Amino acid sequence: MIRSDFHMHSTFSTDARSEMSDMLKAASDKGLKHICFTEHMDWDNTYDEGPGAFILDTESYKIQYDLLSSSSKDLSVGFGVELGLQPHLVDFCNEYTHKYAFDFIIGSSHIVDRIDPGVGGFYEKFPSEKAAHRRYFEAELECIEKFDCFDVYGHLDYALRYGPTADRSFTYEEYSDILDKILMRLIEKGKGIEINSGGFRKGMLGPNPAFSIIKRYHELGGEIITVGSDAHHTSEIAADFDRAENVLSDAGFRYYTIFKERKPVQIPL
Ligand SMILES: [Zn+2]
Ligand SMILES: [Zn+2]
Repeated sequence: MIRSDFHMHSTFSTDARSEMSDMLKAASDKGLKHICFTEHMDWDNTYDEGPGAFILDTESYKIQYDLLSSSSKDLSVGFGVELGLQPHLVDFCNEYTHKYAFDFIIGSSHIVDRIDPGVGGFYEKFPSEKAAHRRYFEAELECIEKFDCFDVYGHLDYALRYGPTADRSFTYEEYSDILDKILMRLIEKGKGIEINSGGFRKGMLGPNPAFSIIKRYHELGGEIITVGSDAHHTSEIAADFDRAENVLSDAGFRYYTIFKERKPVQIPL
Protein backbone atom coordinates (compact mmCIF):
# COMPACT_ATOMS: atom_id res chain seq x y z
CA MET A 1 0.00 0.00 0.00
CA ILE A 2 1.28 3.46 -0.91
CA ARG A 3 1.85 5.44 2.26
CA SER A 4 3.58 8.48 0.77
CA ASP A 5 1.83 11.54 -0.60
CA PHE A 6 4.20 13.78 -2.52
CA HIS A 7 1.85 16.41 -3.85
CA MET A 8 -0.05 18.41 -1.23
CA HIS A 9 -1.08 22.04 -0.76
CA SER A 10 -1.89 23.90 2.46
CA THR A 11 -3.18 27.45 2.85
CA PHE A 12 0.25 28.73 1.83
CA SER A 13 -1.11 27.98 -1.65
CA THR A 14 -3.67 30.51 -2.85
CA ASP A 15 -6.26 27.91 -3.85
CA ALA A 16 -5.94 25.51 -0.88
CA ARG A 17 -8.28 25.35 2.11
CA SER A 18 -6.61 23.50 4.99
CA GLU A 19 -3.94 24.72 7.40
CA MET A 20 -0.60 22.96 7.34
CA SER A 21 -1.11 21.63 10.90
CA ASP A 22 -4.46 20.09 9.90
CA MET A 23 -2.93 18.51 6.78
CA LEU A 24 -0.22 16.95 8.94
CA LYS A 25 -2.70 15.56 11.42
CA ALA A 26 -4.94 14.15 8.67
CA ALA A 27 -1.95 12.51 6.93
CA SER A 28 -0.91 10.95 10.20
CA ASP A 29 -4.47 9.76 10.95
CA LYS A 30 -4.55 8.10 7.50
CA GLY A 31 -1.45 6.11 8.39
CA LEU A 32 0.92 7.78 5.94
CA LYS A 33 4.68 7.48 6.51
CA HIS A 34 6.07 10.19 4.20
CA ILE A 35 4.50 13.36 2.91
CA CYS A 36 5.84 16.41 1.15
CA PHE A 37 4.20 19.82 0.97
CA THR A 38 4.41 21.17 -2.58
CA GLU A 39 3.01 24.68 -2.32
CA HIS A 40 2.27 26.66 -5.48
CA MET A 41 4.87 29.11 -6.73
CA ASP A 42 3.59 30.39 -10.06
CA TRP A 43 5.61 33.44 -10.92
CA ASP A 44 4.06 35.72 -13.55
CA ASN A 45 0.66 34.10 -13.47
CA THR A 46 -1.67 36.99 -14.08
CA TYR A 47 -4.36 34.83 -15.61
CA ASP A 48 -5.89 32.98 -12.68
CA GLU A 49 -6.61 35.53 -9.96
CA GLY A 50 -4.69 38.62 -10.95
CA PRO A 51 -1.04 39.62 -10.46
CA GLY A 52 0.77 37.91 -7.63
CA ALA A 53 -2.00 35.51 -6.69
CA PHE A 54 0.16 32.40 -6.81
CA ILE A 55 3.39 33.84 -5.46
CA LEU A 56 4.43 31.83 -2.44
CA ASP A 57 5.47 33.56 0.77
CA THR A 58 8.35 31.12 1.02
CA GLU A 59 9.90 32.67 4.15
CA SER A 60 6.71 32.22 6.18
CA TYR A 61 6.17 28.78 4.68
CA LYS A 62 9.68 27.74 5.77
CA ILE A 63 9.19 29.02 9.32
CA GLN A 64 5.91 27.14 9.68
CA TYR A 65 7.36 24.02 8.09
CA ASP A 66 10.38 24.02 10.46
CA LEU A 67 8.08 24.42 13.44
CA LEU A 68 5.65 21.63 12.53
CA SER A 69 8.02 19.12 10.94
CA SER A 70 10.34 19.08 13.94
CA SER A 71 7.49 17.93 16.19
CA SER A 72 6.28 15.26 13.77
CA LYS A 73 7.49 11.83 14.92
CA ASP A 74 6.01 8.92 12.94
CA LEU A 75 5.54 10.92 9.78
CA SER A 76 8.44 12.29 7.73
CA VAL A 77 7.55 15.64 6.23
CA GLY A 78 9.28 17.15 3.21
CA PHE A 79 9.70 20.78 2.25
CA GLY A 80 8.73 21.07 -1.39
CA VAL A 81 7.30 23.34 -4.01
CA GLU A 82 5.23 23.05 -7.17
CA LEU A 83 6.92 25.48 -9.50
CA GLY A 84 4.95 26.86 -12.42
CA LEU A 85 7.20 26.63 -15.50
CA GLN A 86 6.96 29.08 -18.37
CA PRO A 87 9.77 29.48 -20.94
CA HIS A 88 10.64 33.06 -19.94
CA LEU A 89 11.09 32.16 -16.23
CA VAL A 90 14.34 30.17 -16.39
CA ASP A 91 16.44 32.78 -14.56
CA PHE A 92 13.80 33.36 -11.88
CA CYS A 93 13.35 29.63 -11.24
CA ASN A 94 17.10 28.92 -11.08
CA GLU A 95 17.61 31.70 -8.57
CA TYR A 96 14.57 30.76 -6.50
CA THR A 97 15.39 27.06 -6.25
CA HIS A 98 18.96 27.80 -5.18
CA LYS A 99 17.76 30.07 -2.43
CA TYR A 100 15.89 27.42 -0.40
CA ALA A 101 16.83 23.89 0.71
CA PHE A 102 13.89 22.11 -0.87
CA ASP A 103 13.50 18.33 -0.54
CA PHE A 104 11.47 18.05 -3.72
CA ILE A 105 10.47 20.23 -6.66
CA ILE A 106 7.60 19.51 -9.02
CA GLY A 107 7.78 21.44 -12.29
CA SER A 108 4.31 22.03 -13.74
CA SER A 109 2.82 23.69 -16.78
CA HIS A 110 -0.25 25.53 -15.50
CA ILE A 111 0.07 28.45 -17.88
CA VAL A 112 0.56 27.98 -21.63
CA ASP A 113 0.58 31.00 -23.93
CA ARG A 114 -0.47 33.06 -20.89
CA ILE A 115 -3.61 30.98 -20.32
CA ASP A 116 -4.42 28.40 -17.64
CA PRO A 117 -6.51 25.66 -19.29
CA GLY A 118 -7.92 24.96 -15.82
CA VAL A 119 -9.47 28.40 -15.66
CA GLY A 120 -10.76 28.46 -19.23
CA GLY A 121 -10.14 30.09 -22.59
CA PHE A 122 -7.42 27.71 -23.77
CA TYR A 123 -9.35 25.15 -25.80
CA GLU A 124 -11.42 27.91 -27.40
CA LYS A 125 -8.29 29.24 -29.12
CA PHE A 126 -7.79 26.13 -31.24
CA PRO A 127 -9.66 24.67 -34.21
CA SER A 128 -9.89 21.31 -32.43
CA GLU A 129 -9.40 19.72 -29.03
CA LYS A 130 -6.56 17.66 -30.48
CA ALA A 131 -4.72 20.78 -31.67
CA ALA A 132 -5.01 22.23 -28.16
CA HIS A 133 -3.70 19.02 -26.54
CA ARG A 134 -0.77 19.09 -28.95
CA ARG A 135 0.05 22.73 -28.22
CA TYR A 136 0.06 21.94 -24.50
CA PHE A 137 2.52 19.07 -24.99
CA GLU A 138 4.76 21.25 -27.21
CA ALA A 139 4.90 23.89 -24.50
CA GLU A 140 5.90 21.23 -21.96
CA LEU A 141 8.68 19.95 -24.21
CA GLU A 142 10.04 23.48 -24.51
CA CYS A 143 10.09 23.78 -20.70
CA ILE A 144 11.75 20.37 -20.30
CA GLU A 145 14.53 21.51 -22.64
CA LYS A 146 14.98 24.84 -20.87
CA PHE A 147 14.66 23.95 -17.19
CA ASP A 148 16.83 21.78 -14.97
CA CYS A 149 15.61 23.01 -11.59
CA PHE A 150 12.87 20.40 -11.01
CA ASP A 151 12.74 16.72 -9.99
CA VAL A 152 9.53 15.47 -11.60
CA TYR A 153 7.15 16.96 -14.14
CA GLY A 154 3.71 17.48 -12.58
CA HIS A 155 0.44 16.11 -14.02
CA LEU A 156 1.93 15.74 -17.48
CA ASP A 157 -1.43 15.84 -19.28
CA TYR A 158 -3.00 18.50 -17.02
CA ALA A 159 -4.74 20.27 -19.93
CA LEU A 160 -6.75 17.17 -20.81
CA ARG A 161 -8.77 17.55 -17.62
CA TYR A 162 -10.27 20.72 -19.02
CA GLY A 163 -10.78 19.83 -22.69
CA PRO A 164 -14.34 19.43 -24.02
CA THR A 165 -14.14 15.62 -23.79
CA ALA A 166 -11.51 15.46 -20.97
CA ASP A 167 -9.46 12.30 -21.65
CA ARG A 168 -12.22 10.44 -23.54
CA SER A 169 -10.78 11.19 -26.98
CA PHE A 170 -7.12 10.81 -25.97
CA THR A 171 -4.96 8.01 -27.31
CA TYR A 172 -1.20 7.83 -26.86
CA GLU A 173 -0.70 6.90 -30.51
CA GLU A 174 -2.11 10.16 -31.76
CA TYR A 175 0.57 12.14 -29.91
CA SER A 176 3.31 9.51 -29.75
CA ASP A 177 5.82 11.66 -31.65
CA ILE A 178 5.75 14.50 -29.12
CA LEU A 179 5.05 12.35 -26.04
CA ASP A 180 7.96 10.02 -26.79
CA LYS A 181 10.22 13.08 -27.05
CA ILE A 182 8.93 14.41 -23.72
CA LEU A 183 9.43 11.12 -21.90
CA MET A 184 12.84 10.42 -23.43
CA ARG A 185 14.15 13.89 -22.64
CA LEU A 186 12.96 13.58 -19.04
CA ILE A 187 14.73 10.24 -18.72
CA GLU A 188 17.93 11.58 -20.35
CA LYS A 189 17.93 14.52 -17.97
CA GLY A 190 17.48 12.28 -14.91
CA LYS A 191 14.02 13.72 -14.23
CA GLY A 192 10.86 11.82 -13.37
CA ILE A 193 7.12 12.10 -13.64
CA GLU A 194 4.39 11.88 -11.03
CA ILE A 195 1.19 9.93 -10.91
CA ASN A 196 -1.31 12.56 -9.80
CA SER A 197 -4.45 10.95 -8.43
CA GLY A 198 -6.34 14.24 -8.78
CA GLY A 199 -7.46 13.09 -12.23
CA PHE A 200 -9.79 10.52 -10.65
CA ARG A 201 -11.76 13.20 -8.81
CA LYS A 202 -11.68 15.67 -11.72
CA GLY A 203 -13.95 13.47 -13.80
CA MET A 204 -11.27 11.65 -15.76
CA LEU A 205 -11.06 7.93 -16.42
CA GLY A 206 -7.70 7.70 -14.65
CA PRO A 207 -4.94 9.73 -13.04
CA ASN A 208 -2.79 12.45 -14.61
CA PRO A 209 -1.05 11.49 -16.71
CA ALA A 210 -3.16 8.81 -18.37
CA PHE A 211 -2.28 5.14 -17.93
CA SER A 212 -0.89 4.90 -21.49
CA ILE A 213 1.66 7.65 -20.77
CA ILE A 214 2.76 6.02 -17.51
CA LYS A 215 3.10 2.64 -19.25
CA ARG A 216 5.15 4.15 -22.06
CA TYR A 217 7.41 5.93 -19.56
CA HIS A 218 8.13 2.54 -18.00
CA GLU A 219 8.73 0.91 -21.41
CA LEU A 220 11.24 3.62 -22.31
CA GLY A 221 13.18 2.92 -19.11
CA GLY A 222 11.74 5.61 -16.83
CA GLU A 223 12.27 4.79 -13.17
CA ILE A 224 11.46 7.94 -11.19
CA ILE A 225 7.75 8.18 -10.41
CA THR A 226 6.28 9.89 -7.37
CA VAL A 227 2.69 9.54 -6.21
CA GLY A 228 0.65 12.56 -5.15
CA SER A 229 -2.97 13.36 -4.44
CA ASP A 230 -2.68 17.09 -5.26
CA ALA A 231 -4.75 17.56 -2.11
CA HIS A 232 -5.97 21.11 -1.52
CA HIS A 233 -7.95 20.00 1.55
CA THR A 234 -7.44 17.39 4.30
CA SER A 235 -10.19 15.20 2.81
CA GLU A 236 -8.18 14.76 -0.41
CA ILE A 237 -4.95 13.47 1.13
CA ALA A 238 -3.95 10.10 -0.39
CA ALA A 239 -7.28 10.06 -2.29
CA ASP A 240 -7.63 7.15 -4.73
CA PHE A 241 -4.18 5.78 -3.88
CA ASP A 242 -5.53 2.22 -4.19
CA ARG A 243 -6.41 2.99 -7.81
CA ALA A 244 -3.06 4.75 -8.37
CA GLU A 245 -1.29 1.66 -7.08
CA ASN A 246 -3.15 -0.55 -9.57
CA VAL A 247 -2.19 1.83 -12.38
CA LEU A 248 1.46 1.70 -11.34
CA SER A 249 1.65 -2.07 -11.13
CA ASP A 250 -0.33 -2.55 -14.37
CA ALA A 251 2.20 -0.25 -16.05
CA GLY A 252 5.00 -2.54 -14.87
CA PHE A 253 6.34 -0.66 -11.85
CA ARG A 254 7.33 -2.60 -8.74
CA TYR A 255 8.18 0.51 -6.74
CA TYR A 256 7.50 4.24 -6.52
CA THR A 257 9.71 7.17 -5.62
CA ILE A 258 9.96 9.65 -2.79
CA PHE A 259 12.52 12.46 -2.48
CA LYS A 260 14.71 13.63 0.36
CA GLU A 261 17.02 16.60 -0.15
CA ARG A 262 16.33 16.39 -3.90
CA LYS A 263 17.54 12.77 -4.04
CA PRO A 264 15.20 9.96 -5.18
CA VAL A 265 14.52 7.00 -2.89
CA GLN A 266 12.67 3.97 -4.27
CA ILE A 267 10.00 2.26 -2.16
CA PRO A 268 8.64 -1.18 -3.11
CA LEU A 269 4.91 -1.38 -3.87
ZN1 LIG B 1 -0.53 21.67 -10.52
ZN1 LIG C 1 -0.71 20.90 -7.17
